[in-house]
Amino acid sequence: MATPPKTYHVKSFGCQMNVYDGERMGELMARQGMSVADDAASADLVVLNTCHIREKATEKVYSEIGRLRRDDGTRPMIAVAGCVAQAEGAEIARRAKVDVVVGPQAYHNLPDLVSKAAKGGLALDTDMPAASKFGALPSRRRVGPSAFLTVQEGCDKFCTYCVVPYTRGAEVSRPFDAIVDEAKALVDAGAKEITLLGQNVNAWEEDGRGLDALIRALDRIEGLARIRYTTSHPNDMTQGLIDAHAQVETLMPYLHLPVQSGSDRILKAMNRSHSRDSYLRILDRVRAARPDIALSGDFIVGFPGETDQDFEDTLSLVADVGYAHAFSFKYSPRPGTPAADMDDAVEAHVADERLQRLQAAIGEGQAAFNAHSVGRRCEILLERKGRRPGQLIGKSPWLQSVHLVTDAAIGDIVTVEIESAGPNSLAGVERVRTAA
Ligand code: SF4
Repeated sequence: MATPPKTYHVKSFGCQMNVYDGERMGELMARQGMSVADDAASADLVVLNTCHIREKATEKVYSEIGRLRRDDGTRPMIAVAGCVAQAEGAEIARRAKVDVVVGPQAYHNLPDLVSKAAKGGLALDTDMPAASKFGALPSRRRVGPSAFLTVQEGCDKFCTYCVVPYTRGAEVSRPFDAIVDEAKALVDAGAKEITLLGQNVNAWEEDGRGLDALIRALDRIEGLARIRYTTSHPNDMTQGLIDAHAQVETLMPYLHLPVQSGSDRILKAMNRSHSRDSYLRILDRVRAARPDIALSGDFIVGFPGETDQDFEDTLSLVADVGYAHAFSFKYSPRPGTPAADMDDAVEAHVADERLQRLQAAIGEGQAAFNAHSVGRRCEILLERKGRRPGQLIGKSPWLQSVHLVTDAAIGDIVTVEIESAGPNSLAGVERVRTAA
């Protein structure tokens, strides 16, 4: 029998939803009386909160597990959580020495699983129970100025390259009242900004009410200065949500709306269920509602069958939209997805070259968007210390990092004039302090 762990360390990989889940797992451990360790090397329990989206995700988990072995031959208790745990299940324990395997819908059971593992043997839970895990999680006590709040999980879209519908399950919306209560608790715990999270966050609904109704309710919470949401699907971009961008002052002018490709042929092969044109028309309506909105997207290059022309279509879409920011990845097959069985793979060197060209185009757009901010006055929510003495780093309404020297505190909102712009961040000077 192993000694029950007294300290823990959670290492989260991948998306913001995993960051949120990792924080909630930490809170569960803290409620058990465990204290947080500075790093994995000194922790009794290490939770690897894994992501299945990137290439060779499973292999990376095994190498992370290997790295936890200490020079004296000992290792901490190891819990593998997240989407790789869901996808691989007991196979992880067959290939590596781990103590707990827990899926993303079952992590509220982590304390029980850790206790079971401390008695010896593997503790595994990859169920997707009908009852939500959220009701079993402790309330939030202390958070930073910008906090995440998961409102929706899972996906019914079944894009042919994606594992999420298999690892996170069907689309489920958390109840309206529970979300509003958690948002109030986050504000009481120090949050000024809340980012609503979901695999398809704009698919959130309850009794015919959509995400816009939820945003309008959160807008009424005193002390909550900023609301954001991510990640959205074009097909769930309702007119009500678009209108909210024009009408709700606390809803920040930023929209992350993945498109993946600018070619209709590839969008069809990806089962995206929208076209290039329908995507662009949505953005037209969003811009009509909020002309200064910063747009962001996701792209995959080298999808099976992608021709030079398909790729040129993607580049021309990037030029048409003028993204403030975007993520781009080289396609790699995920076992169990329809695309993994598709012929006509794009050669690696071709995909590499396309990715470089796409990233250069996105980088140019981002630099132009940032350069356009110079001379602008805007409110900055201060989030963390910078490297220089007296320097703090905050976020603009358009999600740009802004550096400034100030005696204001983290969590304050200050009005700043942007003086210079780099490709990834801005620098400004404080003009007015609006909130403490
Ligand atoms: S919409 Fe497509 S890419 Fe997004 S989570 Fe669902 S299946 Fe995956």
